[in-house]
Amino acid sequence: MDGDDDSDDWLTPIRTAETTKNDVGINGAELRELEEAESEEEDEDEKEDLRPLEEAEAKIRWLREELAWFRSTAVKEQSEKQSLQGQIQQLKLKMARLQQQLKQEQRQSSQLRQQLKQERQQAQTQSSENMTQMMETMRQEAKAQRAVERSRKEKDTAFSAMRKAQANSERLQAKPFLKIEYATDSGGWASYPADSIDKIWEELCAGKRELEFDRGDETYLISFQNLMQENTKTRKQRRIRISVDVPEYWSMSSGIEKQDFLRCLAIGSDEEIFNRVRVLVPESQRLEIDRVVKGSVFHHLDFQGSSACGLEAVSVKRVWRIEHPTLFRKYSLCRSALQEKSQGGVPGISPPIGEKLSLLAKRLLDPDVRASVNEVFLFHGTSTSNIHSIVAHGLDFRLANTGFYGQGTYFASQSCKSWQYCCRSCGDEARYMIIARVSLGKPHYTKEVERNRKLPPKGFDSVVANPGPMAGHHSAVQSHQEFVIFDRYQAFPEFLVEIHR
Ligand SMILES: [Zn+2]
Repeated sequence: MDGDDDSDDWLTPIRTAETTKNDVGINGAELRELEEAESEEEDEDEKEDLRPLEEAEAKIRWLREELAWFRSTAVKEQSEKQSLQGQIQQLKLKMARLQQQLKQEQRQSSQLRQQLKQERQQAQTQSSENMTQMMETMRQEAKAQRAVERSRKEKDTAFSAMRKAQANSERLQAKPFLKIEYATDSGGWASYPADSIDKIWEELCAGKRELEFDRGDETYLISFQNLMQENTKTRKQRRIRISVDVPEYWSMSSGIEKQDFLRCLAIGSDEEIFNRVRVLVPESQRLEIDRVVKGSVFHHLDFQGSSACGLEAVSVKRVWRIEHPTLFRKYSLCRSALQEKSQGGVPGISPPIGEKLSLLAKRLLDPDVRASVNEVFLFHGTSTSNIHSIVAHGLDFRLANTGFYGQGTYFASQSCKSWQYCCRSCGDEARYMIIARVSLGKPHYTKEVERNRKLPPKGFDSVVANPGPMAGHHSAVQSHQEFVIFDRYQAFPEFLVEIHR
């Protein structure tokens, strides 16, 4: 067993080398050392007895076997290593292939995902398109429905317009603005043809007092001075009469007398016309107007100023009605145009115009006309120097300063507002206010100050600034109800009111 121990010790370095080099094989140098060691032992064996020699030979044999085993093992391990390396190589290749495959699959899956996403989007688009189509169909149906309703309404409107037109034409036939008639032999009156009436009116307005007029083969000389016509051949004379369509409560409504000619034609200077066309109203009407002026002082809750605007202690001294047929005719034509446009009415003014003015309108204005064009009475304040011009030629905004809501004529439903525009420096002198008849038509309710406005917005006939918040206003609030028109003949100065403090 000692020998075994020795041999074990002797072999240790080889095994160590084997493990440290991490190599199964033994290199050439180590083998040579082993063989030299064998020959040295043989030399010593000659001097010793045979037993150790045999032992040594056995040891050598064992070592040789061991060596052979090691060699074969080394070879085997080498080949195993090679085969393992081959396997590793193969595995690497396989892995590379797998990675390749994985990449491809990833690509495919991302493509699939992309495709899926696209399809989903398409599906969504499709469904939203379907929805749009459905809604479009519904819209078309609703439109068709509306068209049916509209045509029905149009038919109704057309009918009512026709009825109204018939009524109007009957009224116009019964009472044209200007009528010129001659006395017949039977004691009645016959009208001049309509087209010749216009010609006669023009001649009158141009200042003529006589004119020749052809009817059939005959020629007549018409004298407006004497209200007579004379056949130039036969010298036969007939009386003529002229009447104009003016409000029934005017003093001149029943027909023009000789003294009414100049008034009717409004020829002359502003002052001459002013003095001719105004008619002092009776005491009862003066009192009524006094109540209207004093009863039209009221304010919006947000109003910051004095609650009476200086109108608390005034009195209406005199009131004139302006009976100016030519000016009224212009107003009347403008009103008719609005009436035609409105075709069956316009929405009323909101909030309604003050009670006192409304009562006056109710008493004096034609209810049918009032509703169809929002014809109202409103206040207009102005300086005394403008009064002659306003009475002679109407309210002309071209002469006025531009206000908050554009270049038009301004009115108020509160007398205190208009009072602000009456003569400020007059002290105890009389001041004048106009109560105008105004056709507001379809009103546009403004929410902001618009100084540059020159016309009402499209589809509207007037601008109304109601009390309340007002963008662009210096106090951000409109205190009074104001009205603006942009056509000078949309208003007629009906009453001239003289006010004393
Ligand atoms: Zn006021």
